[in-house]
Amino acid sequence: MTRPRAKRSDRYKFSNEIVHFQGSGQKIISKSCQIVIGDECDSWSAEHPQNVRDLMKRTRSYTSSMAFLCCSPSTQNAPIWENFLKGSQGYFTLRCKGCNELTMRSCDIKNLQFESDYNEALKIYIVRKGTERLYCPICGHEHKEEDKEWMIQNGDFVHLVPEMIDERPSFQVGALASQLPSLCWSEIANFALEAGKTADLEIQKQFDNSIRRTSLQTKDDKQR
Ligand SMILES: [Zn+2]
Repeated sequence: MTRPRAKRSDRYKFSNEIVHFQGSGQKIISKSCQIVIGDECDSWSAEHPQNVRDLMKRTRSYTSSMAFLCCSPSTQNAPIWENFLKGSQGYFTLRCKGCNELTMRSCDIKNLQFESDYNEALKIYIVRKGTERLYCPICGHEHKEEDKEWMIQNGDFVHLVPEMIDERPSFQVGALASQLPSLCWSEIANFALEAGKTADLEIQKQFDNSIRRTSLQTKDDKQR
């Protein structure tokens, strides 16, 4: 993208606003911003541990502002996950075609079942393609992948703490809410199979990063 009328490479200058790019690799400067976005912010901590906190400070001079933090959680104790738990905890949930209720969280891979075959040459179990089905834990309805589009389009966020939605909304989206070919059910099933048979931390992390995703949105209306 070209940067018309921008003298510096770390910003876009539009007719009515300036967009600054900072964060992961450099210290946050003291510019006031009404909207701040932190992408993959858990990894910021390696270079500038204070950057997420500094990012939030940039909104202080506005009576109304918004901070949006987004990241794949790397561990159970990841900052983004702790932030998610402090908010309204909205889980994207797929709608069931059997009972028509929102019953399957997009991160709950345990509802995805499949057959697998042992491959002698590779010495691993491989998912038998076409056997993947997603079960509703409430009514037991069995969904095929062709139902996925309807289940996602009719899905919604279910917040565990709805009274926090206005002040501190937080959202979590998992792989079952994706329509990308790389996250089709057979890919998710193969990933689950691999992650299930090994305690290897790297594979578990990869599984979490690919299959379970978290984003957090914090609306900050200067109530503190
Ligand atoms: Zn159901």
